[in-house]
Amino acid sequence: MGESYKVAVIGAGTAGLLTARELQKEGHHVTVFEKANKVGGIWLYTPRMESDLLGLDPNREIVHSSLYKSLRTNLPRQAMSFLDYPFVKKEGGDPRTFPGHEEVLRFLEDFANNFGLMELIRFGHEVIRVELVDEVSHEWIVESRTRKSESTWESKEGLFKAVVICNGNETEPNVAEFPGRDTWSGLQMHSHNYRTPEEFENKIVILIGNGPSAVDILKEISPLAKQVHLAVRTPTFQLIRVENYDNVWQHSMIECAHKDGKVVFQDGSVADADAIIHCTGYLYFKLFVLLDLNKLLNHNEVYCRYKYHYPFLKSNEIVTVDDNRVGPLYKHVFPPNLAPWLSFVGLTLGVNFLSSTLLEDFDELEIADSSSNAMSAQMMTVVFRVMELQARWVAKVLSGTVELPSEEAMAASVEEHYSEMQKAGVPKRYTHSLLMGEVEYVTWLAAQLNIKPLKMWKVITVFSVIKGALHYGENFRDVWDIDKWIQEIDSSH
Ligand SMILES: Cc1cc2nc3c(=O)[nH]c(=O)nc-3n(C[C@H](O)[C@H](O)[C@H](O)COP(=O)(O)OP(=O)(O)OC[C@H]3O[C@@H](n4cnc5c(N)ncnc54)[C@H](O)[C@@H]3O)c2cc1C
Repeated sequence: MGESYKVAVIGAGTAGLLTARELQKEGHHVTVFEKANKVGGIWLYTPRMESDLLGLDPNREIVHSSLYKSLRTNLPRQAMSFLDYPFVKKEGGDPRTFPGHEEVLRFLEDFANNFGLMELIRFGHEVIRVELVDEVSHEWIVESRTRKSESTWESKEGLFKAVVICNGNETEPNVAEFPGRDTWSGLQMHSHNYRTPEEFENKIVILIGNGPSAVDILKEISPLAKQVHLAVRTPTFQLIRVENYDNVWQHSMIECAHKDGKVVFQDGSVADADAIIHCTGYLYFKLFVLLDLNKLLNHNEVYCRYKYHYPFLKSNEIVTVDDNRVGPLYKHVFPPNLAPWLSFVGLTLGVNFLSSTLLEDFDELEIADSSSNAMSAQMMTVVFRVMELQARWVAKVLSGTVELPSEEAMAASVEEHYSEMQKAGVPKRYTHSLLMGEVEYVTWLAAQLNIKPLKMWKVITVFSVIKGALHYGENFRDVWDIDKWIQEIDSSH
């Protein structure tokens, strides 16, 4: 065991819990600040919706979780396990391989209880200021507030040697833009605020998007709604077969919306709708079928949904958010001249998209092809594992068990990343989208920590989920035998 410090962790979602656990293992003194009264972050379902259903009003009352009541995981539970704490089926729980959100929350709660993390968490404490005391001692003031009554708060300050920011980045929805959107008379909401289907009974509803949220919501509102119109950008690639529904139609994207309720699609078709649900928000699970990287990047309004937001961070402008680039950050975690005293866990984004090569070969691609060049253009997004490795890296760097390069070398690495992006014409806002590099990134992190690289089935999980969904249809989560699939891959490598 190396050095041990007083460390503040902001947030007790997946990233915060993993970070607290790793810090604790390294012998640090950990305090986790969590504004909610429970652990789980986005996995803490609430029926509450925001006061602005589209999420455009910056002064709206923010609801952290984006879950709808019926949400099931997009990844099999095997791909959401932690290194030494598998996401196994438990008695009395949801035994499904792609379980409902309650099961993920239970897993996170069990993880926290199992490792004594609950005692480290100050629930109901919202961090409102993280400020460097001075750049020599590298100490931080963390100010948090707790609610005393409907309108009064009490705030407290604490001094910490290091701060790890794990506040999540899925509360700022991305909304589709089209002329007439803001004056359209019907109900509009982002799927961030969708909870249950009842209010769409006998309504004509437009769903924008064709990722899993759109598919899930379509499946549950179509039996109640009068009509459902799907506005999609990539009509050739569908997880849902509209022909199986007699009240569902598919269109291209929305051209414009009129005050009288009419919505015109780019293909010229028109729907006289009551509601529009923007399912444009969850990039992790957006499935892109695009011809090239530039085209991918040009899909800005769908693609760039995360808005990094650190209203509490006062780092003397050392870390800034510029066009959604949080920086400078070495490997998306440490600001070079504040390292290792400030760090971010869970900031990177995976990207799922299929190259044209893959698209052409889609039907023929076998799992064994996963090492081919075509496959290397494919992202995997094992979100929990990326966070776990980042968390372990932070904890070990703080304790001195793993060394960082010099400040200059880290700054040079960040600059190199920026200039590579610039050369490739990649806008700043994609800095933390790993684009083509997620596998390399995870492999790099694992190497810092002397951990074996990810198993092949994990690397290809997201691709395979897409393929599984296309192969098995909408009920792929229940039909597909994941354990058998993993065994087959393990035995072929
Ligand atoms: C709809 C949806 C479905 C998803 N499905 C899957 C899936 O099937 N599989 C998968 O692996 N991933 C999935 N994800 C990805 C998901 O992001 C991760 O699973 C992960 O849970 C995110 O964890 P996090 O800790 O980074 O953020 P969060 O879970 O958002 O946690 C952040 C925590 O920080 C707290 N916080 C924020 N600000 C403050 C503050 N100022 N002071 C104190 N506390 C603060 C919040 O209250 C929250 O508890 C999904 C995401 C979404 C949105």
